[in-house]
Amino acid sequence: MKPSGFAYFTLVTVLQVIQKSSEFLSRKGVENPRLQVELLLSHHLKLPRMALYLNFERILTSPELDTLREFVRRRGEREPLQHITGTTSFCGYEVEVNRHVLVPRPETELLAEAGWKLQGLNPALDQLNEGHPYASPPRVLDFGTGTACISIAIASKCPDILVDCVDISQEALAVAERNINRHGLGTRVRLVHSDGFSAIKAGEKYDLIISNPPYISSAEILTLDAEVKDHDPLLALDGGADGLFFYRQLAERAGDFLKPEGTMMLEFGDGQEKMVEDILRSQKWIVVEVCADYNHKPRFLIARKNETDPRT
Ligand code: GLN
Repeated sequence: MKPSGFAYFTLVTVLQVIQKSSEFLSRKGVENPRLQVELLLSHHLKLPRMALYLNFERILTSPELDTLREFVRRRGEREPLQHITGTTSFCGYEVEVNRHVLVPRPETELLAEAGWKLQGLNPALDQLNEGHPYASPPRVLDFGTGTACISIAIASKCPDILVDCVDISQEALAVAERNINRHGLGTRVRLVHSDGFSAIKAGEKYDLIISNPPYISSAEILTLDAEVKDHDPLLALDGGADGLFFYRQLAERAGDFLKPEGTMMLEFGDGQEKMVEDILRSQKWIVVEVCADYNHKPRFLIARKNETDPRT
């Protein structure tokens, strides 16, 4: 009787499958093909990537091989690695991702870090005595939360804060909810289904409004890598005709929901720094800092409505 599947033809080792699959992905135009295969394989075999190197001669079982071949085929179709594995890491926190949410980007980790380091959010950094936290819990609004990655990072680092996560997409909020529960933050992080600020009650006041809004212009989306344009949700990318729609909305509306000493932090796209600053200044925001990403490109800014911040 013939054994079924790949194993019938030959026994395949870890090293062989890495080599063959890397060649395949390379032909398909996937960047860093070997790394991609190694990550898929380590995910599937539940081994740290480096452990693959100690197991090069290991023979893959037929089901292992079948699954890996399917993963590699999908990656060859330019499906993002994170959609295939179903998770990614953000600031060291594992978050579920799927086609309904933007895959969190490394640059956004810097935005989240600026958030949790903001004065007034973190008693340890503010050198408050233990047992004497803030008079009332600091509040954060995560505008366009997607996976809720930013909220998860900030709420995990700042034990007193309450976070409202807003998103227009119900599907994204379902992912965000699972991620929030996965990190045990359900009592402090609340989800709000809202188109922009529409479902935020008048009178709500936050210490920090933080956002990585959709900022790609509608025309530019067509020029992006297949992994992004065909797999990240359009809603999470599309910033309207000039990419700046949400900055205008935030500049006009966010002030109503900020405490007088509150702060807004916004990520923006390549080359948008000047335009975003102009939009904010036209609505009487003071841009207090522009911060660069890992490639030394301006990537997010910190703005306030009032010159005098009692805490600085
Ligand atoms: N806040 C999420 C992130 O930064 C989603 C952003 C978005 O969908 N534009 O990854």
